[in-house]
Amino acid sequence: MALRRIRLEGDPILRKKSRPVEEINERIKTLLDDMVETMNDADGVGLAAPQIGILRRVVVIDVGEGPIKMINPEIIEVEGSRIEIEGCLSIPNKAGTVERPERVKVKYLNEEGEEIILEGTGLLATAICHEVDHLDGILYTDKVIEYVDITAEDEEIEEE
Ligand code: ZN
Repeated sequence: MALRRIRLEGDPILRKKSRPVEEINERIKTLLDDMVETMNDADGVGLAAPQIGILRRVVVIDVGEGPIKMINPEIIEVEGSRIEIEGCLSIPNKAGTVERPERVKVKYLNEEGEEIILEGTGLLATAICHEVDHLDGILYTDKVIEYVDITAEDEEIEEE
């Protein structure tokens, strides 16, 4: 496994649309492992492949219950809404409130190529939406309601 360099806002690759994975081979599995390592190293709750310069529909998420690796994720159902503070590993030292669904259902392939349907609420739902947006070149700053002061020490910011 290896750490990958996280691309920062302003890098045009973050605005491109990622292509679906057609074959789950060793390269894709290595990519997923490297993404988990890079996310953990940066203390993030999620990372999408374009954030490390790879335009493939692959994301990793860890909201504190262990890493979830998603290949070709697709949000198939959304319900409710919540407004929470979001950050992004590609946009350091910044955070803002974003409205997201309270509950989402996502369909994806795992490393074995099995189709998984996962339901997420709260932070997990937010992370899924945030990461899937990255695959379409969308950043949370496109949807931000209001930026918040993250110098306040008691504020817990989850970077995705
Ligand atoms: Zn992000």
